[in-house]
Amino acid sequence: MSTKRALERTLADLEGFEEPRVDLEQYPTPADLAANLLHLADLQGDIAGRTVVDLGAGTGILAIGAALRRAGRAVGVERDVDALAVARRNASRVEPAVAVDWIRGDATRLPLCPDSPVTVVMNPPFGAQRGRRHADRAFLETAAEIGGVSYSIHNADSHDFVEAFAADEGGTVTHAFAAILDVGRQFPFHEEETRAIDVEVFRVEWDRSPDVEGESA
Ligand code: SAH
Repeated sequence: MSTKRALERTLADLEGFEEPRVDLEQYPTPADLAANLLHLADLQGDIAGRTVVDLGAGTGILAIGAALRRAGRAVGVERDVDALAVARRNASRVEPAVAVDWIRGDATRLPLCPDSPVTVVMNPPFGAQRGRRHADRAFLETAAEIGGVSYSIHNADSHDFVEAFAADEGGTVTHAFAAILDVGRQFPFHEEETRAIDVEVFRVEWDRSPDVEGESA
């Protein structure tokens, strides 16, 4: 297992969004935050040998980082074809080489029903724009459906929301840590050169019964 520092250095070399789309809230996950999240997940036994699914994979940093930490299988789901092109380039130039399965699609309507629990990692849209508050809810719903466990990044004021959502779905928040998401000035309405957004990362264990909904018991 590489050190957290080494992982961060590798991830810091990845390309960001070429023309970030504001409607999809395309903010790249900073390398230090991605490395922190993945390192914690790996220490918990949630990465190595597991299927790891990155929802809203963007430029692929979390899926690629999971593959570098020897996920059994790494999958990135992203709806924007241009972001996926960057993610593919990133996966092919990273050292050592990694394999990631990229899927173009809506991460909130996944036609997937894995037969063993997966680890979900995600930095979903927060719903910051145009009053789409808690756009991350639909992503958490997917995590609850497919995840044995999930790691997700949310706005700093999301603690009660994530706790309550998890409780409703029979899940448990086992870890939470605060972090800062530095984003460059990438949209015209950003006035400063860089902005620091306070975020919180949550690990949730989902109670996923072995019977898939719709199947006979
Ligand atoms: N972790 C990534 C992306 C974070 S931004 C990175 O660091 O690059 C959130 C991403 O979610 C964007 O790439 C956006 O295009 C994608 N996205 C937004 N809504 C989506 C949806 N419904 N299905 C799949 N991807 C979505």
